[in-house]
Amino acid sequence: MANPPLIVGNWKMNGTVEETLKMITELRHKLAPGTAQVAVAPPFTSLYSAAVALQDTPIKLAAQNMHWETEGPYTGEISGLFLKEIGCAYAIIGHSERRQYFGETDEAVNRKIRTALAQELVPIFCVGETAEQRKSGKTEAVLETQLKKGLQGFQMNDVKNMVIAYEPVWAIGTGKTATPETVREAHAFIKSLHDTRVLYGGSVKPENAADLLAQPGVDGALVGGASLDPGSFEAICRTAASLS
Ligand code: PEP
Repeated sequence: MANPPLIVGNWKMNGTVEETLKMITELRHKLAPGTAQVAVAPPFTSLYSAAVALQDTPIKLAAQNMHWETEGPYTGEISGLFLKEIGCAYAIIGHSERRQYFGETDEAVNRKIRTALAQELVPIFCVGETAEQRKSGKTEAVLETQLKKGLQGFQMNDVKNMVIAYEPVWAIGTGKTATPETVREAHAFIKSLHDTRVLYGGSVKPENAADLLAQPGVDGALVGGASLDPGSFEAICRTAASLS
């Protein structure tokens, strides 16, 4: 594993400002310094409060999405410029829930990654196959296409400054975790194409974190459900640190 591992908590559409501040306070108390690189991604409405609460801590802030333009007539959208201004370090881009429910295409993902880099936000670029794609033996082809289209026009040095998250769609929010072998194979495949940090995401919990994070090519985790419980999230961060 890359040293130190990166653990990112994707809170999805959970966390009023009040709940966000409560979770951050708990996390600040529980998280031992230097356990892992840690970031949390609360919803947009809680990001600024979270940024204030995280000042002077090593915990970084991530956005769950962003628009590909910096400003203009895009009702309901959020610019990377705004995210940078309030102190975000990362932006999750191309999460499967955005692809699945909001029609986000590989082309849109590509533009968002470009804008994130221009704003000096580190993109956490999500890729992953569906259950049907895996069953029909298309996993590598799907990953290759998503990576090719999402990273079209980028140089090797740009990609080095990104994080890729391997998130099999069938393992997200389902409690179905990929086996360590599946994770190892997918990460090896991604790393054969791109030399950058690759996180695993898909039902990571304290009980399976050690097995998954110990796989070669796994540089950390993108954690959804379990990141909403500061105790579970801290346990995952501690496990990651103990393996690095
Ligand atoms: C995610 O949302 O990126 C994710 C991996 O969710 P979960 O851990 O709940 O499967």
